[in-house]
Amino acid sequence: MTTLLILAFLMTAVLNTAGAQEVRPQEKPQEKPQAGDPLDGRVIVVDPGHGGTAEHDDFRVGPDGEREEWINLRVALLLQEMLEERGAQVVLTRTTDVAVELAERARLAVEQEADAFVSVHHNATADPGVNFPIVYFHGNASENQASVLLARAMADRMNQYLFNGRAPVSVVSDHTIFPTAGTGVLRHSYGIPGVIVEASFFTNPEEEQRLRDPEYNRLEAEAYVMALEDFFYQRRPEILEKYSTVQLPPFEVSQEAGRMADMARLWKQDYLEGKRLMKSDADMERALELLTRSVRSFPDSWVAGKAHAARAEIKQRLGKKEDAETIRRRVTEFYVVP
Ligand SMILES: [Zn+2]
Repeated sequence: MTTLLILAFLMTAVLNTAGAQEVRPQEKPQEKPQAGDPLDGRVIVVDPGHGGTAEHDDFRVGPDGEREEWINLRVALLLQEMLEERGAQVVLTRTTDVAVELAERARLAVEQEADAFVSVHHNATADPGVNFPIVYFHGNASENQASVLLARAMADRMNQYLFNGRAPVSVVSDHTIFPTAGTGVLRHSYGIPGVIVEASFFTNPEEEQRLRDPEYNRLEAEAYVMALEDFFYQRRPEILEKYSTVQLPPFEVSQEAGRMADMARLWKQDYLEGKRLMKSDADMERALELLTRSVRSFPDSWVAGKAHAARAEIKQRLGKKEDAETIRRRVTEFYVVP
């Protein structure tokens, strides 16, 4: 008995010493995957973006009159039904076409201690030819790895289900579009794996017609289910404190309405022309100008990460090493794909 007690005491002492010396990058262990249906018992907050805005904004509408908030709600309601069939507990932030505060949507996720927060959106831009999925996570990729994991799964599944796997995709930080603080819903629910998914662009006339079709909405909802399944099958890293590894200076970009301006249509042309001009040392400043205009007018496009990387290269060649380093860091933290 005494020997056992002494042994136990020694063991505790050894363990304590080991614990004190060890510097752990993550305080809590990673959440392990579970057996059975990965969706069973999960608390998932589904947030149909916007609502009740038909009276006072004219940019959240397709060329044929379909509104984003309507599409978002149709997809979210189908998604709720499918997830509940799989045993998940689903909380919707709205069930009708009404306005709900962003902080209120996030609060639901926090209160419910949600396993995932998924904000359902569809995108708009000045160029009607544009149509591809964009998925946002909050803050820095290195700190928010669980959300990056979910974002990647979403982008892959949207591409597979809606674009036959042939679309370019963007998986980017919400700081690319709201440089100082990111998006309200993801900021206020930080710590819960969360994404904003823009499955496709309703400003593309053919896509707008497809998005009106409930069967197409169902296909999109299926893509969400598959992505959530992919996510819950995996080991999910702990989410670290925001800005604990790096805080990048804001890079100002055009906001939603500004991105609908005529100049914004040149995003790809500006990128390609900038890359072409980079071949000559004499055109370096002009190349930088065009690449910068490309990222400002479409900061989450599938060329934006590459455009920033090219900007870093130009800064480096112009001898501005610190600027180059900041831009490279921005690419790593904000532009996960491509
Ligand atoms: Zn939206």
